Parts: sequence; C-alpha cells; structure tokens
Amino acid sequence: MTEQKIMVKPFEALADARFQKPWEKIMIGLECHVQLNTDSKLFCSCPAGKETEEPNTACCEVCLGMPGSKPALNKKALDYALKVALALNCNINEKFFFSRKTYFYPDMSKNFQITQYEIPVGENGFIELQGGKKIRIRRIHLEEDPAALIHESGLLSSNYCLVDYNRSGIPLIEVVTEPDMASPQEAREFLDQLTMFLSYLDVFDFENGTLKADCNLSVVGNERAEIKNVTGKKSVEKALEFEAKRQLELVKQGKQIVRETRGFDEKTLSTKSLRKKESEEDYGYITDTDLAAVVLSKKEIDAIRKSLPELHSDKAKRLAKEFGLSDYDAKVIAGSRFLSELFEEFAKSSSAKTANFFVSGIFVSIAHHDNKEPEELSSMLDVSQLKELLSLFEKGKINEKALKEAAIAHITKSKNPLDFIRENGLFKEASSGEIEKIVERALAANPKAVADLKTGNEKSLNFLVGLAMRESKGKAEPREIKRIIEEKIK
Ligand SMILES: [Zn+2]
Repeated sequence: MTEQKIMVKPFEALADARFQKPWEKIMIGLECHVQLNTDSKLFCSCPAGKETEEPNTACCEVCLGMPGSKPALNKKALDYALKVALALNCNINEKFFFSRKTYFYPDMSKNFQITQYEIPVGENGFIELQGGKKIRIRRIHLEEDPAALIHESGLLSSNYCLVDYNRSGIPLIEVVTEPDMASPQEAREFLDQLTMFLSYLDVFDFENGTLKADCNLSVVGNERAEIKNVTGKKSVEKALEFEAKRQLELVKQGKQIVRETRGFDEKTLSTKSLRKKESEEDYGYITDTDLAAVVLSKKEIDAIRKSLPELHSDKAKRLAKEFGLSDYDAKVIAGSRFLSELFEEFAKSSSAKTANFFVSGIFVSIAHHDNKEPEELSSMLDVSQLKELLSLFEKGKINEKALKEAAIAHITKSKNPLDFIRENGLFKEASSGEIEKIVERALAANPKAVADLKTGNEKSLNFLVGLAMRESKGKAEPREIKRIIEEKIK
C-alpha cells in the first residue's frame, strides 16, 4: 500500500497579495473534536457517555489497551462520520484504515491513540457562512477520545492526579479546516454553523456531549501558535480574541512569534505557552493492523447520502414559504433541528405567528439568557402544557408578559405554566373598556406627545404605550394599547 503523507501546509503559502496590509491580517484554522452520540465506544462495546457514573466502571480490556485485546470498529460511529462528511460537502474516501499515534500520557494507557492519518473518512469539503464566505474543510476523520485526568484539589494536588477511563475510547470526529477564518467572530460563526449540522444530523448530544477545538492562529507572514483543547464555542471565540491581540502586538513591536502550543485559561480569558510545537511527524504514526481496513462501495455511500435529513438551509426556505415567516425568523428557527421541530409542533395547534413568537422570541431568549443551546433545554419542556399556554395567549386570556413569565417558570423550575398563571393571578382582568379609559387619560395628559405622534413620530407612540402599560399595571397588551391609540388619533 502506498502511504500518502498529508503534510501540514505552511500558513505562509497562503499569505499572498490578497491582503493589503499583511501584518494586520490574521488567519485562523480549527481542528474541532466532536463527541458522537453513539451508545457504545468506538472500538469496544462499553457504554459511551457514562462520565457521570462511578469512575472506571465503563471500561474493558479493549479501551484499557490490555495486551492481546482486539478492537472492532463501531459501525454506527462510522455511519455518523460519513453523514457529517457528506453534509459538509466532503469527498468520501472509499478505502481507509486506522493508525496508531504515539501518545505517552497516562490518559491513554496503551500509549497510542487510534486515529486516522494518511487517509481520512472525508476530504475537501466546506461550510458556507451567512455572508456566503466558504470555509474549506481539509479533512474529517474518526478517532478515540483519551481518558479523563482528574486533578484533585488539596494538599497533594501537585503530587498526583487520578485517571477515569470511562471516557477512554469514546468516538470522536475531528473536523479540520483550512486557515480560512479571518477573525475570532468568523471562527465562532463557523462553529455555530457546524453545530447546526450536528443538530440536524442527530450525531451530537447537546446536553452531555463535548465539542473541543485546537485553534491555530497566525498573523499573515509569521509563525502560528496553536491553542490546545478549548472547550465550547464561546471559549474558542474568547481564546482567539486574546491570541489575536497578543500576536498583533508582538508583530507591531517587531518581535518574532514563536511556533508553539498554548493553553487557554477560562478564568483569566488568556492563553499561555505550554510547549514548543511538535510536528505531525513527531507522533510516529503507524498503521493499526489489529483493525481491518474499511472498504466502502459507492452503493453504501449513496445510501448514507440519501438518508441525510432536510438540513437547515432547506428547512429555512421551506418554513418561510409554508408558514409565511420572515427570512430572518425562518433562519433563527431553522438554526436548530430541535427549534424547528418545536415550532412545527406548536404550529399544529396555534397560528404560525404565535408559534414563531414563542419559539424565536421567548424560548430562544430564555436559552441565550442562560447561555445555553436550545437543545440543552429540551428535557425541561412539556410540549402539551406549553400548547395549552399558547392557546390561552391566542384567545387573549393572558398577555405577552404572563406568557413569558409562565414559560420561564416552566423551563427553569419545571412549573406547570397553567398553575403558574393561576397562582400568580395573571389572567387578564382589564377589559377593553378599562384599557380604553386608561389610554384616553394618557392622551389627555400629554397633548405634546399626541401632536408629535400625529406628525408620525414613532418615539411618542412608544412613550404613550409605555405610560398606558404602567397605568394598567402590565395587564394590558402593548399591541392592544397601540391599536387603541392609533384609532383615537386618526
Ligand atoms: Zn471498552
């Protein structure tokens, strides 16, 4: 077998005339490690994702690397990797094999990690960002996760650390991009797009799975630094922001940037040097002869391609057309499979407008407020109880404020939203007649605002609505107040 070597392309090769002021331009490439949500590990039948259980109870001779043990590839993990590679526009290699990467740390007890080196599952794909820029994907390959090292705090912390092998052998895919991102924000957008694909393909557990990235950053024309093992999208963005500033400052001072591996400190949001960067050759990859080479037929690859679900861009177009949503709302909802399914479920019993208001307005803002992906809140929802809540809102029995408060109580405290409305007296009491009187009083007391409003001043409308809202103690709907004001000043 001829072993084609994938050499790391120097960033300098890409530092060309596209840039007016090269010393100001940064280039970012990511190596994203995504945990696949299979039931068992990559090469044995131990349960995957049992990190919360008693340490070292979900492991066997294979994932501990005992002499004589034989790994066997998990077919589901392979299918998941193929799905991701196809969805990200990669070419699929019909033949590939696994390699051993020399790895001398206690979190890999067999002293090598099984991964793919020469030929990955997929190559040469891309993800398109919102503005149309394509971020090229160099390769997607399968590999096993190492064990977890636990540094206990306490007197002896510097003398020992514990190892939990429950994690060892959990399937990961590594998605390696070209250094095509020009800012930390673009890197964040890339990861947002990537997680959308993972959500639609249903290959990632948003509540318990981990997404880590090794982030390569360089100022064009200079050496690059790699920030290892950054967990989560927000931290990736923060780590890159710090690193970009650090490197740009060094370049401005005429200092040299050292090629090295750095670590990210979540507390100080800064990066620090760990070691001089090793090269891929240093790992001494050898073919893993315990595992059979994978040979895929065109038919098998086509079957996976056909099994791909409707992905987010197609879904956004369909939702906009089918439910009359704005392009923006359709994109927000289609931004996750979970959100879009929730929307379509609510739209069965409520109008699309109400379902959209609840999902893209209220629910998404609750998730963002808690710094969570919408998927992470999925287990907190009782859809039938929420449907009843939306029906009350649609019938005009509760206002927007009550809807939002009941939703928050439901999602964050598992409270039945109807009980919450009842217990807190949130059913609308003010009748239309009362609201009308409140509006009349507000208009009579503020002739200047009324005059401004007649000249089309939107600010004075908001001012008057605010006054009437306060007067009604939040029981009236802003929309209804607006309607009455507009009627009165005609
Ligand atoms: Zn095992």
